[in-house]
Amino acid sequence: MSVRVVARIRPLLKQELDKDVIVTSESTEGEGTQPTIVRIPNPKNEAESFSFQFSSVYEQETTQQQVFESEVAPTVKHLFNGYDTTIFSYGPTGTGKTHTMRGGKSLADRGVIPRLLSNIYRRCRKIEKDTSGATHVSVTMSYYEIYCDRVFDLFEPPEKRTASGLPIRDNHGKTVVVGLREVPCTTLKEFETLYDQANINRSTSATKLNAHSSRSHAILTVKITQTTEDSVLVSQASAIDLAGSEDNRRTDNNKERMVESSAINKSLFVLAQCVDAISKKQSRIPYRESKMTRILSLGQNNGMTLMVLNLAPVRSYHMDTLSSLNVANRTK
Ligand code: ADP
Ligand code: MG
Repeated sequence: MSVRVVARIRPLLKQELDKDVIVTSESTEGEGTQPTIVRIPNPKNEAESFSFQFSSVYEQETTQQQVFESEVAPTVKHLFNGYDTTIFSYGPTGTGKTHTMRGGKSLADRGVIPRLLSNIYRRCRKIEKDTSGATHVSVTMSYYEIYCDRVFDLFEPPEKRTASGLPIRDNHGKTVVVGLREVPCTTLKEFETLYDQANINRSTSATKLNAHSSRSHAILTVKITQTTEDSVLVSQASAIDLAGSEDNRRTDNNKERMVESSAINKSLFVLAQCVDAISKKQSRIPYRESKMTRILSLGQNNGMTLMVLNLAPVRSYHMDTLSSLNVANRTK
């Protein structure tokens, strides 16, 4: 089981061009090598700075393709060998989590998820061709969000939601979401249509709840089943656009928001603990302590976990950046 925790610093937005950049990266191997260190000033004494180490640090100008090729493409081979993959984007709201996972409309802007699916479908076709059809590969997916510890199916229209969300149950040692749709999806085109509609469902439901999609976790799970005459191999890739890691209590303290932020804080905390335990190869991984890690059975299947810590380089994010670095650093 392997874990990588990497940081990605987003470029300045148009409205930030005159802002103070305080987050920088460094490489330990000398000029021209991939950086592994993030440096940020101590807010209490700017003459000092803190440094944090990662498996890799992606600087402002890194493209979507570079992130995919370096971090995700190498895992697809393992996925088809039967190992599960889990990819998280973690960080304060506005730092590029959705950009990293979903990305923009243009080909160059596509994020990890559409690129992963494109790669998966290409490999499915290749396997079927190389085995002259003796191996059949099927792809199904589910996509849900967890908001205030309640699970909602993003493949269903928001009107069909119940207030309490979908129940979860333990079934032969595996946690399942009862009633969650698992949709067969055979082409990239089909996936794109399904995924776009689901993302519209995500933002519509957030608007209806008077919430914001940055306060829910969105979890896409792609299940791959390879069937031959005498064997079945199943593995899955999960890609998670997490809720913003900032402490919502500081800005907004009405009752609804308190419930939201304590649910978010708890699940992000448990997630960080799980990633930490996996990386230290501890035998006890506290995945049962939050709904998300429980449904994902995080760390229970051999496989690999990637956490991308998204960061904004400017001063307005100083405290949120520092606290997310502290969390991610515990998990490196
Ligand atoms: P989050 O999901 O963490 O709240 P977003 O992905 O919505 O953040 O990003 C916030 C803004 O920054 C968006 O306008 C997005 O297009 C832009 N952005 C984020 N990362 C990048 C990047 N690497 N390159 C260009 N623009 C980016
Ligand atoms: Mg987002």
